[in-house]
Amino acid sequence: MNKLSEIEPVALWNYFGEICKIPRPSKKEGKILEYIIQFAKNHNLGYKQDKTGNVVIHKPATPGKEKTETVILQSHVDMVGEKEQHVDHDFNRDPIHPFFDQGWVSTKGTTLGADDGIGIAAQLVILENSEIEHGPIECLFTVDEESGMTGASNLKPGFLEGKILINLDSEDEGELFIGCAGGIDTVARFPIKTEPVREKTKAYHIRVSGLQGGHSGDEIHKSPANAIKILNRFLWNADKEFKPGLNTFNGGNLRNAIPRDAEAVVVVGDKQGPDFETFFQVFAGTVKTELKDAEPNLTFGIKLADVPVSVINKKLQNRLFNALYSCPHGVITWNQDLEGLVETSTNLASIHFKEFKEIEVVTSQRSSVDSAKKDIADRINSVFTLADARIEHSGGYPGWTPNRDSEILRITQSSYKRLFRKNPLVRVIHAGLECGLILEKYPDLDMISFGPTIKGAHTPGEKINVRSTQKFWKLLLDVLRNIPES
Ligand SMILES: [Zn+2]
Repeated sequence: MNKLSEIEPVALWNYFGEICKIPRPSKKEGKILEYIIQFAKNHNLGYKQDKTGNVVIHKPATPGKEKTETVILQSHVDMVGEKEQHVDHDFNRDPIHPFFDQGWVSTKGTTLGADDGIGIAAQLVILENSEIEHGPIECLFTVDEESGMTGASNLKPGFLEGKILINLDSEDEGELFIGCAGGIDTVARFPIKTEPVREKTKAYHIRVSGLQGGHSGDEIHKSPANAIKILNRFLWNADKEFKPGLNTFNGGNLRNAIPRDAEAVVVVGDKQGPDFETFFQVFAGTVKTELKDAEPNLTFGIKLADVPVSVINKKLQNRLFNALYSCPHGVITWNQDLEGLVETSTNLASIHFKEFKEIEVVTSQRSSVDSAKKDIADRINSVFTLADARIEHSGGYPGWTPNRDSEILRITQSSYKRLFRKNPLVRVIHAGLECGLILEKYPDLDMISFGPTIKGAHTPGEKINVRSTQKFWKLLLDVLRNIPES
């Protein structure tokens, strides 16, 4: 293990180390903003802060570059605070201690905050250094990217002047991002109506677990199975054979996570018990065979449970099983121009029986084409409307539709090729970036996003690759040098 001061570029890692000392979980960015504003004051640079907390710092062009188009460099100042269970760390108070080992910078047992601390560090070095050649610069620091993008969504027109924006928040060196998916949540709610459980019955707790799950943006195409869908498929089929009563059905967790587990409690007649158990085991075997390569750890469980007092009403049960069965999940369309890129997807994220009053089904849609996002959200709406649920759409944010004629893309591509003798990949990310929200307020911006390679962002295993950071830094400086006159 080594100190960051031993790696190049020294100034960049030095600022990264400084930023790691400052606690900055989402919605608690006060200290890092204070640091950034103090930095502007210390270096006699003009700055503005808006009501949401976003800061922009201006730096004039270096001599001879005054007529160059203004470039906005953008990062977000907050970070995700995740730690391993045994680690004692308070993200509101404690510094992160990064170290360098075998080509990577990481830390022990917590997120590192290279997402997006490395972007902040790059901005600060460029603002400070007098030898880097560039036109007029605006450095935009947004708040609260990780838990709702409220900084970017509250950005007001007129806060920024530049016409080109470089977002420093992507995580794969060698890839240039020119678009991202927008998203919307669609939530269906069924008021619960119950009926009493008959006499001479047995109750079973059944469970589907061990699926790989994953992020509904980055991994929706890698993770075909959904625990709620599998369990509902069983219940739908069992309903035809045994007419069981449903007491509860819960599964999934976060709206942007593909559900890994689901469980239900059902009631069947005493005498049906053995046949019901066999039916479950046969179903489990069939699905395990279907998914043996994709989901090797898929597990089914069935055990006796206490017989509950009531189950949901038969009509409601029928509507619920049918709606969940027809509700789409997974990739809806692939992008026609960019190979291997999901264009539109939907995640059947969770089902919860809330205090036995209401069944809540949460789904989340993404697309890089805004009209396609609306189309899939409407389709989910229609499925649950047929089932008589109440439907609500929320949390919508716009995508960033790729512009293949972008000038900043052309400049960055040719810099990359010249520096590294290789073509960069041009990609659209299926997860959200703040660019879509910024573009909504500044529709004429020409934007691109690139960054060094970061692995395990948002997890305690987060690490950033040093070699890729050197390449990212070279590329950024070369792009700034090559921005044409306006
Ligand atoms: Zn980020």
